[in-house]
Amino acid sequence: MKWKDVDYTPYTSTIALAPEEESLRQEDFIQKAAAVVREMSEKAGRVPTACVVTFGCQMNARDSEKLCGILSRAGYMLTEDEEADLVIYNTCTVRDNANQRVYGRLGHLNAMKKQNPSKKIALCGCMVQEVQVIDKIKKSYSFVDLIFGTHNIYKFPELLYMMLTSDKMIIDVWKDTSSIVEDLPVERKYPFKSGVNIMFGCDKFCTYCIVPYVRGRERSRDPKEILRECEKLAADGVSEVMLLGQNVDSYGKGLEGGVNFPGLLREVEKIDGIRRIRFMTSHPRDLSDELIELMAGSEKICRHLHLPVQSGSSRILKAMNRGYTRESYLELIGRLKAAMPDLAITTDIIVGFPGETMEDIDETISLVKEVGYDNAFTFIYSPRTGTPAADMPRSMSDEEIKEGFDKLLKVVQDTAKLSVAKYAGRVEEALVEGLNDHDPEMVTGRLSNNLLVHFKGGADLAGSYVKVKLLENKGFYYIGEML
Ligand code: SF4
Repeated sequence: MKWKDVDYTPYTSTIALAPEEESLRQEDFIQKAAAVVREMSEKAGRVPTACVVTFGCQMNARDSEKLCGILSRAGYMLTEDEEADLVIYNTCTVRDNANQRVYGRLGHLNAMKKQNPSKKIALCGCMVQEVQVIDKIKKSYSFVDLIFGTHNIYKFPELLYMMLTSDKMIIDVWKDTSSIVEDLPVERKYPFKSGVNIMFGCDKFCTYCIVPYVRGRERSRDPKEILRECEKLAADGVSEVMLLGQNVDSYGKGLEGGVNFPGLLREVEKIDGIRRIRFMTSHPRDLSDELIELMAGSEKICRHLHLPVQSGSSRILKAMNRGYTRESYLELIGRLKAAMPDLAITTDIIVGFPGETMEDIDETISLVKEVGYDNAFTFIYSPRTGTPAADMPRSMSDEEIKEGFDKLLKVVQDTAKLSVAKYAGRVEEALVEGLNDHDPEMVTGRLSNNLLVHFKGGADLAGSYVKVKLLENKGFYYIGEML
């Protein structure tokens, strides 16, 4: 279903000639866009540049890789410089300040566009799924050339072509979709590791969260398609895959054949060349004993679990509609640790949820101490229009929320330092991700438990697995020595 339709009238003849099968059809539009980009190139005497800026989560990062893949195939040179001929903001709307950042940066892009009127600006991602955002952009940011949503990202080649051959703002945002289109080109950030979408959307409706409204209902990809993608990645030199979904533990719901998440993992494990498997995000409500058992016995599934708790107070968890209590969460953590004593656990926590008191925050603090997280991402609650929590009354002032947040943050940092300290002196296997950003004589590697280690080495090590001794604990990372 679409709630904002693009005016296809000027393109009727082009569209009529395009193949009907969706991936073939989009391939056809990549060729059409490439012809326009070639013309631009000849006219300007240089290759046009494109810059994709990603806000938000791993799902958006993966979508951006798809956008980059299509842009590369269309003939653009990719850059990180927003002076580019085409800039795409792949937006996030989980917190209101993410939206404000985009509006602020659009102002800068407009100034650049005034210097270079042929510059094109596109917006996509979760933020543009909100009706009021589209209205605001139409009214106050009319220099934007293309807006498309999360459900039709696969149509980007077609929309790119339309944008390049039009001088009107093109808006194509769908309220929902049931389709999943495979096989579009992807430009991976790393040659040796890749995200793989296994599902889209979410059915959980946590009361603070806008994701089910902007990403739609849960849809799992066909396992055969996922395995085919993983096999292709392995053949292309990828050794680490990250299986992505808003709630990976409920993977398979609605698919024929009774496949579930552990079943999918077992199949991915069998692929030669895949040496590490990660996944994101798990939900405490759905994480099964079958998964715990599989992880504990697996050589390939990494020893890291991101398990958002959001609050340590059962009363607040209920108001959030999280579907578990403090006690059941702690009991789950107990089972995970009993099965995998070396498992690194990280989490997300919201402070200042409507109705939350300092006593609730104290309960969260005591839960953080009890679990001993390796890291926790803490956020101050930000109301999102259209979610049930946005209409719930607050019980704390901004100052009290800030005070509770700072108290929690201190405990999170102290707990993380203690957790990370226990790895000192160990020899671990690291996947080298590349040269260190600050010291060109050092490389950065990632351990199975997601901890980063920096050690002496050259760029030629990127993508290889090496043994590293963890020497100096720097709080959230180590300085090590390659053996
Ligand atoms: S599980 Fe809850 S927080 Fe996570 S995406 Fe779904 S609704 Fe949002």
